[in-house]
Amino acid sequence: MPAWLADTNAYIVANESGGLAVVVDAPPDPERVGAVVAEHGLAVAGILLTHGHVDHSGGSGALAASTGASVHVHPDDDFLTLHPAEQLAAMFGMTPPGSYDLPSCFESLAHGQVLDLAGLSFEVRHTPGHTPGHCCFLLADQETLFSGDQLFAGSVGRTDLPRGSWDDLLVSMREQVMTLDDGVRVLPGHGPETTIGRERRSNPFAASWEAAST
Ligand SMILES: [Zn+2]
Ligand SMILES: [Zn+2]
Repeated sequence: MPAWLADTNAYIVANESGGLAVVVDAPPDPERVGAVVAEHGLAVAGILLTHGHVDHSGGSGALAASTGASVHVHPDDDFLTLHPAEQLAAMFGMTPPGSYDLPSCFESLAHGQVLDLAGLSFEVRHTPGHTPGHCCFLLADQETLFSGDQLFAGSVGRTDLPRGSWDDLLVSMREQVMTLDDGVRVLPGHGPETTIGRERRSNPFAASWEAAST
């Protein structure tokens, strides 16, 4: 569901209604996520954050408080994740409506780790570039990638924000994303879903990441 001012997608992943769920990204209006969770009788076991930008992480504290779920993010984004107020000041010069409380603790993600939550296995792929701690999450069983702000339908994440790196983003794309099969479904942090194959064929930045050197 697209949520908050930035139309950030939050994904609620579960094997079945009435069971456990994982939430991927927590925009600062977590009550909307909570409403869908309640509608399907789900219990949230974990919250995975693709990166520390406030539109993806701001609601994680409130959602964790209301569900008891653990919150997972890569420590290279601590300079963002732990400082939502500074991000809001830089973005808006004020604090827009939303929830920005931090969870009591964050669990650290590491590249290559497999997180077993709610009966689902998420492989963590560290994809620096948009931010230094950005991660994509691969649900291998379902051939589905949660791509955050690394890859969008027809575009890629911006790298002009603090500690962004265009070179790193291209290497992440070549080494960690485009190694996946064409049929893999891609669920991005903004906008509609796509597939690896479609982006390999038609993304305007494909030539750039193919030429990226490691
Ligand atoms: Zn972002
Ligand atoms: Zn975003």
